[in-house]
Amino acid sequence: MSDHKARCACGAVEIALSGSPVLQCYCHCSDCRDWLGAPVHGATGWPKAQVRWVKGADNVTTYKRTENSHRKSCKSCGGAVLVEHPSIGVVDVLASNIKDMKFSPSMHIYYGERMIDMKDGLPKFRKAPAALGGDGETMPE
Ligand SMILES: [Zn+2]
Ligand SMILES: [Zn+2]
Repeated sequence: MSDHKARCACGAVEIALSGSPVLQCYCHCSDCRDWLGAPVHGATGWPKAQVRWVKGADNVTTYKRTENSHRKSCKSCGGAVLVEHPSIGVVDVLASNIKDMKFSPSMHIYYGERMIDMKDGLPKFRKAPAALGGDGETMPE
């Protein structure tokens, strides 16, 4: 079953997603920024069982800055595809890669490391909520 589809910039890599993500958020951490070359990351979190490679599974490279984040990019276009978080069994599929789902973030994480302010009224976690391995501390926009 596939409820949503994600793809890299050139389309060589395609992912099928079933059901709904368990989390949607903006991540401001420097690991995401460095990898993406972007000031902020739009993240959608899916339990591993809801994510299936449709094509291009052998056409990706993996960058592991830490063992907690396996960052996969397309070998053909260089576009970021997804981030596996094996320790929590969740796959972060880049929101911008999912063309058939509206991105509806509920919070900002690692706002303490931000490059840009985003005053949208959503909760701002200095690091992350406890459920994501952080201390739950929030901060002003
Ligand atoms: Zn590609
Ligand atoms: Zn991040």
